[in-house]
Amino acid sequence: MYDIAVVGAGVVGLSVAMQAIEQYPHLKLLILEKENAVAQHQTGHNSGVIHSGVYYKPGSLKATLCVEGAREMVNFCAQHGIPHDVCGKIIVATTAEEASRLEGLRDRGQANGLIGLELLSREAMREIEAHVEGVRALKVPSTGITSYALVAEKYAELATRRGADLKTGAAVTGFRNSAAETVIQTRAGDFSSRYVINCAGLYSDRIARLAGHDPEVQIVPFRGEYYDIVPGRSSLVRNLIYPVPDPRFPFLGVHFTRRITGTIDAGPNAVLALRREGYKRIDFDLSEAMEILQYGGFRAMARKQWRYGMGEYRRSLLKSAFVRSLQRLVPEIQRKDLVPGGSGVRAQALAPDGNLVDDFRFVPRDRFLHVLNVPSPAATASLPIGREILKIVPMQFLQR
Ligand SMILES: Cc1cc2nc3c(=O)[nH]c(=O)nc-3n(C[C@H](O)[C@H](O)[C@H](O)COP(=O)(O)OP(=O)(O)OC[C@H]3O[C@@H](n4cnc5c(N)ncnc54)[C@H](O)[C@@H]3O)c2cc1C
Repeated sequence: MYDIAVVGAGVVGLSVAMQAIEQYPHLKLLILEKENAVAQHQTGHNSGVIHSGVYYKPGSLKATLCVEGAREMVNFCAQHGIPHDVCGKIIVATTAEEASRLEGLRDRGQANGLIGLELLSREAMREIEAHVEGVRALKVPSTGITSYALVAEKYAELATRRGADLKTGAAVTGFRNSAAETVIQTRAGDFSSRYVINCAGLYSDRIARLAGHDPEVQIVPFRGEYYDIVPGRSSLVRNLIYPVPDPRFPFLGVHFTRRITGTIDAGPNAVLALRREGYKRIDFDLSEAMEILQYGGFRAMARKQWRYGMGEYRRSLLKSAFVRSLQRLVPEIQRKDLVPGGSGVRAQALAPDGNLVDDFRFVPRDRFLHVLNVPSPAATASLPIGREILKIVPMQFLQR
């Protein structure tokens, strides 16, 4: 029998597993993953940005864990030879109204403990990114880039080297509880554990329901689509160029990102996916789509945000609309400079009142801990998130 079973081998589940077994070496720990390898969903389909923490509400888990996490991520990558680059980014205001919001963003970043934030004039901004256009910019020097798939593989390697069992191809399909243990039913057989940590990302609400718990939120999948800049035009962007985000939404707006592999991509947008792991526009799953559309929280959100949603769909379907958004930041970019790139699907928790859950959410119930909202910047913050989760696990399950 295992002491702890972690469901989901993304960057969050693997961070918890690696740190649990490091802190409690006698722990019998199991990681269950439905795919045949780790990091196959959000962790392997993101922008690879080590976020600084400038955006998040001071005092929130997102703010504190992101700022700590960014520092730790850079150290972790350096220690384990994972490619990374603290290249900094600029957030560009293209109107006077955005310029005034930029000051608020700087104040927020400073309140979160960031150093080196600097408001730049148009000229100073163009010394950093020669092709960018705007009225003002905020320089965020602590932002970096890496590959979270490589980070997750390293977490898995360290966890298994210290004795954790990682079972892939083991989709969790149900639970049976007895007085002292939980039997976890999976496609690779049954396993029993004294405690279960649910880090199933896009399916974390489903896993909570399978455990007999009401997650009180519904995971709504938002696909983010990217374009790649063709190699001959990649000199238009040196590092990372972001717009000033709309404070009403958790998504950052389409931006330019230099990948750690050297390519430059543009995106992601944020469109509702009609399948939780729907990476393509045509992906559709009737029962998953109905589950979302019938959820009262979704209908409440749609009533409030339909205009924003339509804009995102337009940008998804019409390359010209996507290009226009990018041209606000880099006017020289042309339609022919962009080819379709990858995509990712965000697991975003939606509350019954139609509001997107803003902060990270960890919900302990009986012998379970459900990680129900860990969207961006959770890859950046994965090390402190792992520690935070372990603080919630009752000590009797961590010690034999
Ligand atoms: C488009 C996009 C861009 C992003 N950009 C950034 C960024 O630049 N920086 C940043 O910090 N964050 C970013 N994020 C967010 C970041 O990727 C996520 O917050 C993070 O990867 C969440 O990790 P996770 O382990 O919770 O989820 P996941 O990586 O999705 O892992 C969950 C795992 O659970 C498994 N699973 C599901 N159901 C079951 C089951 N029944 N049984 C067993 N296993 C199961 C899945 O197969 C999966 O491997 C981005 C996300 C997206 C989608």
